[in-house]
Amino acid sequence: MTQTPFTSNEDVVNFIDGDKVPGSTSERRPIYNPALGKVARDLVLAGPADVDAAVESAKRAFPRWSDTPPIRRARVMNRFLQLVNENSDVLAAMITAEHGKVFSDAQGEVARGIDIIEFACGIPQLLKGDFTDQVSTGMDNWTMRQPLGVVAGITPFNFPVMVPCWMFPVAIAAGNCFILKPSERDPSPSLFLAELLIRAGLPKGVFNVVQGDKTVVDALLKHPDVAAISFVGSTPIAHYVHQQGSQFGKRVQALGGAKNHMVVMPDADLSQAVDALIGAGYGSAGERCMAVSVALFVGDVADRILPMLADRVKKLRIENGMNSEAEMGPIVTREALDRIEGYVQIGVDEGATLLVDGRGHKVPGYEDGFFTGGSLFDNVTPSMRIYKEEIFGPVLSCIRVKDFGEAVQLINDHEFGNGVSCYTRDGNVAREFSRRILVGMVGINVPIPVPMAWHGFGGWKRSLFGDTHAYGEEGVRFYTRQKSIMQRWPESTANGPEFAMPTAK
Ligand code: NAD
Repeated sequence: MTQTPFTSNEDVVNFIDGDKVPGSTSERRPIYNPALGKVARDLVLAGPADVDAAVESAKRAFPRWSDTPPIRRARVMNRFLQLVNENSDVLAAMITAEHGKVFSDAQGEVARGIDIIEFACGIPQLLKGDFTDQVSTGMDNWTMRQPLGVVAGITPFNFPVMVPCWMFPVAIAAGNCFILKPSERDPSPSLFLAELLIRAGLPKGVFNVVQGDKTVVDALLKHPDVAAISFVGSTPIAHYVHQQGSQFGKRVQALGGAKNHMVVMPDADLSQAVDALIGAGYGSAGERCMAVSVALFVGDVADRILPMLADRVKKLRIENGMNSEAEMGPIVTREALDRIEGYVQIGVDEGATLLVDGRGHKVPGYEDGFFTGGSLFDNVTPSMRIYKEEIFGPVLSCIRVKDFGEAVQLINDHEFGNGVSCYTRDGNVAREFSRRILVGMVGINVPIPVPMAWHGFGGWKRSLFGDTHAYGEEGVRFYTRQKSIMQRWPESTANGPEFAMPTAK
């Protein structure tokens, strides 16, 4: 076992105005440790009154926080960065305890969150405006970006630290006050992050957490004082949040689900491709929006690669994620496990060839845990549900295609467009693939092309609703609005009233 198991059984509550406060409803939800299959602690659900209290607190904090010079806001972020670094393994253990992913993967998640905090520390540079001297005689024009006010983030279960970090460090550094609505399945890290922010010197009310489900989301969507909503989760809910939020006049970015393809060309290094498919298909039990869930084997690749791939899937080490030998942990909940194993049956019924059947996998000592093994399908066709729908589990569907053009066409025809990858040694294929593919994030011999903090993250098609990607400069744009100022001084004007459209003089 690795260090730092997270064992607290305290209720998980809201964080409003600098304090932990239980939700105003009497409703509770169990939070499971998925490796044990047992309830570890309870979540106390918030209601609309808690959303009102969080928004009030954030509104009170906004005038001072937005007036605080960016360099001083960045210093708070710097102290927060240091605290997150010092506590990164505690956060990772919290993730493993409630999500189930293996501890080293949870450490990686925290590290990718830290990248964005580092990015947000550069906010003085990122907020610099443009200036034109002498836009007209005696007149200057400049633009600057100002924060929106109170903004909210609604996040999924699969990255309980990293995805909130896609949002709040940039939003707060830019001068906004933030309300986080984490997933109800693994909400504990959100409270720890809130505590670390206060320890870093963030004024109370600038960061609040409201725990809950649809009721809280709907209250945020309707609240007149919430200026913008960032959402990450499944496509139907992303679409709903985008529509509702827009209807209520908010700025919305809503990142949705995925069905990421990996193309393997005949000239690819097949042992590298097997490693890539194993890591990207089965890492985090396939519960990643950038997981590869479809392999497109071009020409004769299928017959050469599938025996190696099937052998490796059968050997996956599936354990409690705190075991340092583990390659794959449990599924987040019993319902998700049933859904995933249900999809394996759907694939069989649809006529795909099940090369490896992971259903019913048991881990000795963890018989009640939510475990399934890796499953692998060959001869999947585009009309099958296991191809069209997001399974979000350790199930890889393989399709045999005749050439590169057919692979590109399939990917471009799919409703999702989050991530994609192509394994090849041919520079022209790589270039054509990158240019022609209708997907937001592309990897060439990179299986999970999650962009770094300063590049921004986002898919195309029904993987993202809204205009801007998360974090990076697009994130700064999302959390600020541009103001343009034209200025001249009385000494430079003596023309009297002007009735024509002003032009440069
Ligand atoms: P989910 O859509 O069930 O939940 C996401 C958030 O929405 C949670 O906070 C949840 O409480 C809330 N929610 C759930 N149902 C709601 C409803 N009816 N009305 C309002 N709010 C609701 O997603 P999940 O199961 O937590 O996460 C997995 C999904 O997220 C997958 O589809 C995955 O692809 C996607 N995801 C996408 C990205 C991306 O960047 N595109 C990143 C991570 C996860």
